[in-house]
Amino acid sequence: MRIGDSWKAGSTNEWIESVNPYYNKPWARIPRGTKEDAEAAVEAAHAAFKGPWAQVSPADRGLLLYRLAELMAENAEYLADLEVRDTGKLRAEMLGNLRYLPRWYQYYGGLADKIEGTVTPIDKPGMFHYTTYEPLGVVTCIVPWNSPLLLTTMKLAALLAAGNTAVIKPSEFASTSLMAFAKLFEEAGFPAGVVNVVTGYGPELGEVLTHHPHVKRIAFTGGDSGGRAVATAAAQTFKRVSLELGGKSPNIVFADANQDAAVKGVVSGIFAATGQSCMAGSRLIIHRSIHDEFVQKLVDFVGTATLGDPNDSETNMGPVSNRPQLERVMAKIEAAKAEGANCIIGGKRGSTEACGDGLFVEPTIFTGVTNDMTIAREEVFGPVLTVIPFDTDEEAIELANDTLYGLAAALWTTSIERAVKMPKKLEAGTIWVNAYRVVSYLAPFGGVKASGVGRENGMEAIKEYLETKSVFLNGNPDVANPFVMG
Ligand code: NDP
Repeated sequence: MRIGDSWKAGSTNEWIESVNPYYNKPWARIPRGTKEDAEAAVEAAHAAFKGPWAQVSPADRGLLLYRLAELMAENAEYLADLEVRDTGKLRAEMLGNLRYLPRWYQYYGGLADKIEGTVTPIDKPGMFHYTTYEPLGVVTCIVPWNSPLLLTTMKLAALLAAGNTAVIKPSEFASTSLMAFAKLFEEAGFPAGVVNVVTGYGPELGEVLTHHPHVKRIAFTGGDSGGRAVATAAAQTFKRVSLELGGKSPNIVFADANQDAAVKGVVSGIFAATGQSCMAGSRLIIHRSIHDEFVQKLVDFVGTATLGDPNDSETNMGPVSNRPQLERVMAKIEAAKAEGANCIIGGKRGSTEACGDGLFVEPTIFTGVTNDMTIAREEVFGPVLTVIPFDTDEEAIELANDTLYGLAAALWTTSIERAVKMPKKLEAGTIWVNAYRVVSYLAPFGGVKASGVGRENGMEAIKEYLETKSVFLNGNPDVANPFVMG
């Protein structure tokens, strides 16, 4: 683990095996950090915040972030390799990710010296008033196993540009890419302690990382129960918190849609990253008049997907990232069948020769689904799509919004009227029209309803890591008599 200026095993020297889901075999071991280790990481981050990091000017913070971006690009192959081994993500996808992720550090590096305060036309005679924006202190970044580098970057670039320090807690299923990434901060010239990484089990480390008085903010991405635990802990000491908690996002296809484009959008929405994506478009809501034709096109296209080695450029879908997740996905598929949903493709463990002993699930589509079925309501976080027909635009909106979640939604239409009207009616943090899964460091991302609170990316995100200070200067030579009102 990276704590302050040193690399450490856990204080009890216990280790957790990291399993490569393609081979279904352990390939690395990571330290099982303890509460003492988490405490040391928070102390190191606090010392850096009060000490050397406070001496680095905003412009120089920006230059360090630029340098980090360069190093990330130079180490792309190595970082991709580690994350592929931990998560089973396609190497091609990871390399694409790593070509893009440095942009976050460049963008927020550019913003670091543009955080300007304001002068207020204050209504008090003889007084001058201004605001400044100040960093908060130590920020805990708790990230899940599906996309460690991306989901950390969406937090880290903004919080560092704002002048905070960080303790990162990856999932025990996928820690290695972030441990390797931590090395690059040292190489880029960041003072020791600005970025720390502790590995181990969430509930155990969380007792420190979400309670410690030096922690001023928690940035969390993960599942509902982890998010609830973190928010409850944050409430005890009134820490600021952002939560990105996944979804059950609708992909709505209208009768006037360009069907070939929509088929690709629906497939990338649910089957990219083997469906293990918070923004997965897991509910296809489709106009009844094109249901059969569209579903057939979908099945034909999905039937061409090759499952196999994530390092092979011919592979279209990798394994599920870890065994507990595989079991959750298979249980939800079985429950859907038991509830009466009609499995028209997939529904089983992947068993081709290329799947070997890997943790594969076939791309799965259920028709005959109603929105009250469990498979349409609960996040599967796997390659499982449900198809629900609608008759009117109003019904499409009703079905789309009839979910606990509100992370993303897409609509496919050639009608300009729908394209203008529908986004206003959809309850989601991100709406795509004739597109799916588009993410940018420039565009705010986050959810409404049970998909969470707070936004990452874009200009707004930097404010999430800053405190506004309000300063009144009295230019009057005297102060009014406090016993005389008016
Ligand atoms: P969790 O929410 O449990 O884990 C996310 C992160 O939070 C991990 O680093 C985890 O550590 C940590 N964590 C868990 N509990 C606490 C706690 N009490 N205090 C501090 N940190 C904590 O997700 P899971 O990995 O268990 O996945 C469960 C489900 O969550 C999935 O099936 C999926 O539906 C959803 N999910 C959503 C994601 C998204 O992008 N929105 C990503 C991943 C999962 P540790 O793993 O060590 O417990």
